[in-house]
Amino acid sequence: MSLNQIRPWRTIERRKSRQIFVGNVPVGGDAPISVQTMTNTLTTDVKATVAQIQSAAEAGADIVRVSVPDEASARALKEIVRESPVPIVADIHFHYKRGIEAAEAGAACLRINPGNIGDKKRVAEVIRAARDHNCSIRIGVNAGSLEKHLLDNYGEPCPDAMVESGMDHIRILQDHDFHEFKISVKASDVFMSAAAYQMLAEATDAPIHLGITEAGGLTSGTIKSAIGLGQLLWMGIGDTLRVSLSADPVEEVKVGFEILKSLGLRHRGVNIISCPSCARQGFDVIKTVEALEQRLEHIKTPMSLSIIGCVVNGPGEALMTDVGFTGGGAGAGMVYLAGKASHKMSNDQMIEHIVGEVEKKAAALDEQAAQDDQTEQEEQAAQDIAAAE
Ligand code: SF4
Repeated sequence: MSLNQIRPWRTIERRKSRQIFVGNVPVGGDAPISVQTMTNTLTTDVKATVAQIQSAAEAGADIVRVSVPDEASARALKEIVRESPVPIVADIHFHYKRGIEAAEAGAACLRINPGNIGDKKRVAEVIRAARDHNCSIRIGVNAGSLEKHLLDNYGEPCPDAMVESGMDHIRILQDHDFHEFKISVKASDVFMSAAAYQMLAEATDAPIHLGITEAGGLTSGTIKSAIGLGQLLWMGIGDTLRVSLSADPVEEVKVGFEILKSLGLRHRGVNIISCPSCARQGFDVIKTVEALEQRLEHIKTPMSLSIIGCVVNGPGEALMTDVGFTGGGAGAGMVYLAGKASHKMSNDQMIEHIVGEVEKKAAALDEQAAQDDQTEQEEQAAQDIAAAE
């Protein structure tokens, strides 16, 4: 029984959306909420772009977006797609030809607004290229680039104008019998974004790509994104997301995962529970957590670790984590395994020791998961045989 079944107050009921695919990544329906980022290298610098995509993928990115501002970038995209471990979304603005070239180059998705790429003939050509190359489309409405007639009608960017823009673009795709699309309505203002996304969620069953655009630097942008995206995800809205930070794309991926992890919507790597520390701490909690965060980056298995300065909260937190360490006296603390006090460990050897315990636990959890998968497959095969007889 999952934690959510035991504790219904943890449950988030996700909005029911249609499912599409971005390459081999399902988006919408009951698919896990995917995490995206975007490269900030010159797309024509294939080596640097591929390296950035690989780092983002290593950090957990399911999908990566790449700008295609000119013909040379579209040519480079072909090689980038070939080298990329994850599906690539081509970011296109205004140039319908770049959209066609990107689809031909193997992009898994085009981020393009069909209403902004010229006359009906051009729109039809781009949609045909997307269809021919198994390429989905993301309609990306942005409060900062709304169509002039909407700004004239509404006076300024607002949620109604954003959703109207999105629905206009949706209609164009639907008129071409094209349904492999997702949609975003981003603004840098949290209130505007949240209101637009809530209206959009009522207006369409298309998968929704969440984002607070131009959210800012690492700290302020993380907070803004956590507040904006967090409340929408909590309401069940959102099938994929990108956190937009003026920072390394790897940071965007980490923040995206942390938002999803804090809501129990995705699980990846070690969830470290640690106290802020105070005069009672039996060891340097802050330095230890910093070191462990770096040393445990390679662990992908979802698991938990508590690092608590003293016995005030240590044993209680350790009860709920896979591995724990609680500070004690005389330069040593207690190691907890599966919620139980296991053995003492000196503070100066503790980091190395905890890394070892976490790696052991991750290996055991991976083995258990593999066995569960095999048992499930065997049961399914037995059921299939019984049904065939
Ligand atoms: S757990 Fe102990 S060391 Fe950590 S903040 Fe609380 S009282 Fe201070």
